Amino acid sequence: MTNKDLADLLYPNITKTIDDLEIMYPTRNLPDNAEVCRFAPSPTGRMHMGNLYASFIPEVIAKQTNGVFMLRIEDTDNKRAIENGVQLIIDDLEHYNYIVNEHPIKGGDYGPYIQTERKEIYHIVAKYLVSIGRAYPCFCSEEDLTEMREHQEKKKDRIGYYGHYAKCRNLSYEEIKKHIDNGDKWVLRLKSMGDFDKKIIFKDLVKGIIEMPENDIDQVLIKSDGIPPYALAHVCDDHFMRVTTVTRDDSYISSVPYHLELWNACGFKTPKFAHLLPLNIKEGNTIRKISKRKDPTAAVSFYHEKGIPVEAIKLYFATIMNSNFEGWYLQNPNKSYRDFEFSFNKMSKSGPLFDLEKVINISKNYLSRLSAIGVYDNLLIWAKEFDTDFANLITRYKDYTIGILNIEREQKKPRKDFSCYSEIKSYIWYMYDELFTNVHYEWQNVNNTEEIKTILLDYIDNYYDDNDDKDSWFNRMKELSEKYGYCSNIKEYKENPDNYKGSIVDISMVLRVALTTKSMTPDLYEIMKLLGKERIKSRFDYIK
Ligand code: GLU
Ligand code: ZN
Repeated sequence: MTNKDLADLLYPNITKTIDDLEIMYPTRNLPDNAEVCRFAPSPTGRMHMGNLYASFIPEVIAKQTNGVFMLRIEDTDNKRAIENGVQLIIDDLEHYNYIVNEHPIKGGDYGPYIQTERKEIYHIVAKYLVSIGRAYPCFCSEEDLTEMREHQEKKKDRIGYYGHYAKCRNLSYEEIKKHIDNGDKWVLRLKSMGDFDKKIIFKDLVKGIIEMPENDIDQVLIKSDGIPPYALAHVCDDHFMRVTTVTRDDSYISSVPYHLELWNACGFKTPKFAHLLPLNIKEGNTIRKISKRKDPTAAVSFYHEKGIPVEAIKLYFATIMNSNFEGWYLQNPNKSYRDFEFSFNKMSKSGPLFDLEKVINISKNYLSRLSAIGVYDNLLIWAKEFDTDFANLITRYKDYTIGILNIEREQKKPRKDFSCYSEIKSYIWYMYDELFTNVHYEWQNVNNTEEIKTILLDYIDNYYDDNDDKDSWFNRMKELSEKYGYCSNIKEYKENPDNYKGSIVDISMVLRVALTTKSMTPDLYEIMKLLGKERIKSRFDYIK
């Protein structure tokens, strides 16, 4: 009896061959350097900053090489799957504008994109491995394996199913047939040809050259329920989806010798590997992997609710992905991260530390460079979801709002106030009569409300003109100041403060506070122009 007979005995219903799969999933028709990359999460719930970053990397690499980025769902561990899990992941990727060329719902020529729907493919490859003598069924029970492990521990031997411990390796066809006819449970194992005393050398795109002992363990390729564990599944998928670079968590690196043996046994050309350090977070003195459960700031929803622009988060990812990005971006502030050429060898070899303050800082800079209309459009999208009253207000006063957002914007050094859309209202509320209620004034140095009111009314009736340019506006302010005994020249005032009640600074402060309640605001002239004479005047009525 041959290996081929054994293959038929174990997989009687599998009629397709690896050659059929090669035809069904041909090499992709892409330019030479195009990278095919994938993000391969388990459907365990919404994304978080950690896996959003992990998927950013293959996405940018695929896009910058005009390749393909796909989403593959690794659901072979059913216990962890949640309902709707796939849709949630796709929603988050789309929300972040990742260009996903192929995914479970959209489909593609290399699907299915959900592992549990690819069982036949795994069995075709498994059958092939049996037929060439590189895989065999193992009938050992849990108890057998526990006993073996205990024996190995006692003898201080390496743990695992290998060498002379691999009891089922040499079962004859007849013995196997008896088990099968008997309905005994079995798993399929790799017949490893590795030698633990020899080393394999391979190149990781991030970590460089790595040397590790060969694998000699007869690992499980297919479990008794017919589902493959990660190793065989990823080899079949990455090969037949024609992935060129596998990006995955650093924790897989210790399995690479086994994976490489498997790639070779299948006769597949190995892809490139980039093992990625996870996004870490500092907690007290310890540094650990970011966790959706423990870190509220890891949740995608946190950024969504705060209204941190998607683009800012991606700029942050770009900053931590490649050490030379930040410098480049400083030189090219008006470009997109898509214009930068990312590379694996510019990735840090120690795990990046998640830094919320940096995210916020990047976001603040990013927002300061947007056009007023750009800010308005995104603010409205945010407000429609999280503050409908405000959304209605800025819809009603669209042009006015754009004008407000345009103060000290679109200039060389734009003003940087807010770092996210949820903060904008707290910076501009006073511009809307609807929000100008129950106000608290931040008066500075001036307590005489009667005098304040007199000055303000005189100002609005006799000095203010909506059509004044900034110079005339300022000159009128000077005249007003002198009239009430406030020095219009700051230098002069500083030299002889006793000759005056105060200076023009006090007058403009009074005006600023009266109109906005705040002692610090953007340019007063621009604020006044937007408010307009009528609204300015009505504001004075509030002062009691
Ligand atoms: N499903 C694996 C995980 O969630 C991904 C492994 C891979 O990308 O190859 O860790
Ligand atoms: Zn066995």
